[in-house]
This record gives sequence, structure tokens and C-alpha cells, in this order.
Amino acid sequence: MSLLVVGSMAFDSIKSPFGEVEKVVGGSATYFSIAASYFAPVRLVSVVGRDFPRRTIDKLSSRGIDLRGLKIADGETFHWKGYYEYDLNTAHTVRTDLNVFRDFVPDLPAEWRDTPYVFLGNIDPRLQLDILAQVRNPRIVALDTMNFWIEKSPQLLREVVRNVDVLVINEAEVRQLTGEFNLVRASRMLMDMGPKRVVIKRGEYGVLHLSDGEIFAAPAYPLETIFDPTGAGDSFAGGFMGYLASRGTRELAERDYRLATMYGSAIASFTVEAFSTERLEALSRDDIAMRVSSFRSLTEFRV
Ligand code: AMP
Repeated sequence: MSLLVVGSMAFDSIKSPFGEVEKVVGGSATYFSIAASYFAPVRLVSVVGRDFPRRTIDKLSSRGIDLRGLKIADGETFHWKGYYEYDLNTAHTVRTDLNVFRDFVPDLPAEWRDTPYVFLGNIDPRLQLDILAQVRNPRIVALDTMNFWIEKSPQLLREVVRNVDVLVINEAEVRQLTGEFNLVRASRMLMDMGPKRVVIKRGEYGVLHLSDGEIFAAPAYPLETIFDPTGAGDSFAGGFMGYLASRGTRELAERDYRLATMYGSAIASFTVEAFSTERLEALSRDDIAMRVSSFRSLTEFRV
């Protein structure tokens, strides 16, 4: 089944203890759509400036990602500048230049309004609400956000949270959004607002997945080489939602959500092995399947 994503497409300038890059391609919708395209047909809604590389757009399109919702506007592409210290779990923002996103009004192609799976990627909550108002009866809507929007648009963001099924968010943001340190209690508070599930990304500590009466904990894959954690969260979300969308029309069970969490974790573990989307875009189905089975042996035990 099809999967719709709205989110940022960006130039990222990143410094990590392992190197530095200037204006490489990034953005929540970019990472998400590449990751999800391994599983399901993806429809992308975003905006870039005329400075965005044609090569990247062609590459997305050649993966079958439907770009009818991508606007190429006069002006510069969104730019994020950030750095990581040895604690690769926390991204520090140096600059956020919204550029063409400032005046962006998303307009869903009419035939996309019935898309069953919707991911509201990290972007202005105003745009996330715009998309929500345009889709009809989606099966699952998931949401991601970050500190920038929690600080800038808390009211609008709460409105979005109230109207989604799944929150896919990192641990610092869960705490910031709720004012509660304990992640289990914070998730309960969020579920009381509307979402039925909260999927907490915890960087190298993996993922905590909470729903009514269930908690599932998945580790992150212990890698020897991590270059750049940028995009890990969005790649996780792409694998997670992509897997759910690939399940077809039947009712989703707890098992599907757990497997989706493992597929998301597998995909994210590749993203961090290189800067930008370099590693993420070069995977085979075997690579993904092998990593999922490595996860199985990593966590298997008997009593
Ligand atoms: P993550 O997957 O959480 O590491 O997100 C990484 C991506 O988020 C980067 O490629 C950035 O371009 C993008 N990003 C950073 N700040 C923002 C923002 N305020 N709004 C939307 N996207 C952002």
C-alpha cells in the first residue's frame, strides 16, 4: 500500500568527531523516502530551491518515489547546520535556514488524498496540519518532530499530536514535549493526548516502543564504524512505516509493529555508516534481511 511523506529536503552542514561535510543532501523527507522505498511505493511532499541537485531528484525518482508533490521554488533550499560531540546521540543545531519552506503551502495531488499510510516528518507543524486536513481516512498517521518545533510552535504541535496514531520521536524530545523525565510515564501522557503508540528513538541505545499494555525494547545494532548519525531517525521511521505499508490490507497486529521496529532499526544502522544518504541508498534486500537476522541472534536467549 502507498505511503505519503511530508518533510524537509535539505542541505546539511555537519561536523562530527569523525569528519566534517558542507551542504550535503539531507532532510527528513529525503532519508525517510529512500528508506521506505525498499518496502512500499512512496509519495513525497516537500519543497526545494533551484539550487537543489537535479541528480538527487532523478535518483529519488528512479527508486520509484513519486515526486508529484515536490515543488521546486525560486529561492534557496532549506539548510541545517549542526554538530555532534562524542555523544553521537545528541544533534546540536548551529543554524536552521528555512528558506523556501517559509512560504511553502503543500497541495496534495487529488489522487493522493486517499493514501492509507501517512508520515508527518520533521517539519513546521503548520505544514503537518495542512497535510492532515487534506488526507481522507488514512489507516495510520505517524508523526516526528524535533526541539526546534517544540520550542517554536508548541500549540500547533500539540494539535498535530492529538490527531495522529503513532508518535516516532527521540528521547530528549519526549522529555521536552511532556516535561516528564521518565520515558514510560511521558509516553502515557502522550498516549492520553491521542496517539495509540509512542516509538522512542534512543540513538545507540535503540528503541522503546510503547502502546496500551505493551512495551517492546529493541537494541541498536552495535557497529564498529559510525560516521554520522544524521538521518538515522528518519531512516528508522522510513523502514518502520514502509514495513507496515507493505503488509497489505489486513489488520495490523502487535507482531507487525514489532517487526516494523526491527526493520526500521536495521535500515537506520546502515545510514550512520556514511555521511549523507550514501550508504542508505546502496542497500540490497539481502543486506536488510541479513541485518534483521543479526538482530535476532543479538537478542535471542532462552530461560
Ligand atoms: P534525524 O533523522 O533526526 O537525524 O534528522 C536529520 C535531518 O533533519 C537532517 O537531514 C536535517 O536536514 C533535518 N532537520 C534539521 N532541523 C530541521 C528542522 N527544524 N525542520 C525540519 N528538518 C530539519
